[in-house]
Amino acid sequence: MRHEPEPDAEEKEPPMRSGMSKTGFSLVVLSFVLAQQASAQVTAIRAGRLIEPEAGIVLADQIILVEDGRFTAVGPDIDIPANADVIDLSQLTVLPGLVDAHNHLALTYKEYPENNIYYFTYIQDSTPLRAIQAASNGIQMLAAGFTIVRDMGNNGNYADTALRQAIEMGWIPGPTIVNSGIIIGGMGGQFYPTPEMALEHGIVYPEYLDADTHDEIIKAVRQNALFGARVIKICVDCKPWGYSVDEIRLIIDESAKAGLKVEGHVQTVDGARRAIEAGIWSIAHDSGLNDEMHRLMAQKGIFRAGTETPVTLTGHTSEQRYRRTVEGLRNAWDNDVALTFSTDADYFVPGKTRGEVAIEFIETWKAAGIPAPDILRAMTTNGFRVSETQDTRGPIQPGLIADLIAVRGNPLEDIDALRDVQFVMKDGMVFKQNGMMTPGTFFHGGPVNGARIR
Ligand SMILES: [Zn+2]
Repeated sequence: MRHEPEPDAEEKEPPMRSGMSKTGFSLVVLSFVLAQQASAQVTAIRAGRLIEPEAGIVLADQIILVEDGRFTAVGPDIDIPANADVIDLSQLTVLPGLVDAHNHLALTYKEYPENNIYYFTYIQDSTPLRAIQAASNGIQMLAAGFTIVRDMGNNGNYADTALRQAIEMGWIPGPTIVNSGIIIGGMGGQFYPTPEMALEHGIVYPEYLDADTHDEIIKAVRQNALFGARVIKICVDCKPWGYSVDEIRLIIDESAKAGLKVEGHVQTVDGARRAIEAGIWSIAHDSGLNDEMHRLMAQKGIFRAGTETPVTLTGHTSEQRYRRTVEGLRNAWDNDVALTFSTDADYFVPGKTRGEVAIEFIETWKAAGIPAPDILRAMTTNGFRVSETQDTRGPIQPGLIADLIAVRGNPLEDIDALRDVQFVMKDGMVFKQNGMMTPGTFFHGGPVNGARIR
């Protein structure tokens, strides 16, 4: 270990006693730097209309000030500082960024070459390739207005953590990532692997952490926490035996030690009942959710991440399955379940970006007859709550990190206005303006926001 020399004794003197000594000069420099910081560049946004999704209202002619990446003032009578950069969105509707509460950015299965069978995607695409794909998918999501994505597993060997780290360190633009690491399940997870795959782990990186016993469950949760998960995802009932109420409680308790909530992949009513009884944070997918489960979820405040595939994404659902999906979503809304907008959009649709595939899911919500203000709440305020960001980012409020988007129409009246995102600000930086991506300020040659972010 290298030993640093002691600083010169003279430099330890209180600066005021030494006048314009070397120390006094550095103080002058320091105070100049502080003065510069105190008057950091201000961005002023003129919003023609500003939506507050929680209240479901629109305010006219608002000024939004942004400084050091945060909102500092919002209102109709805000003075714009003389040196401010002014962004004119007076012809647009400004609103918080959108949340996709369930996606897999480091997974894209496709018609060619794997016939949309994601089992084969794992064999053909390496984790490094999938991490780069995740970076691209993240950019595509941000361009569509999604400033937060919960990335819920099936991302190879922690490509989801790598994506989050790269965005947080300041290498690439992308949504705020709330990632789960590897999905925890009984042996095989969602798959029925061959013995060679399951026992030797030699063919493909396992997409699931095998955790059948209590010790394995505890170890799996700790492994994900160690490798950068921000939420824990489990298979509740991927196999007929699944996890019991006590085992789910064990997972919830162990995750809580690391400050993490638990989402359950649920596909049966029995699985849903066990997850709800254990007090899980959120339930993914709708196939196990009936009227009774919805009533129980509403009582307990459990989030629904239903992943409601629209029939317009040909080949990814059937007419019959879609009718059940629409009825289920409607039933959840009738029961006042906490609804989140979640897509599970982990496939390539030719002609569409990943963000355009995700926004297509509003078709299902419209078909369920859910009013536009409630669809928007699912996409914003409930998304911030399920992601646990509502006190740091999401709402357009002074003190919070400056994420916002702008569209031409009014999504409170016509939710399809969200298909045409004209402007995106993330972390106080402009990512998209006049419908064009302008991400130059997001790219850095090094970790400008701090190295070794875990
Ligand atoms: Zn999924």
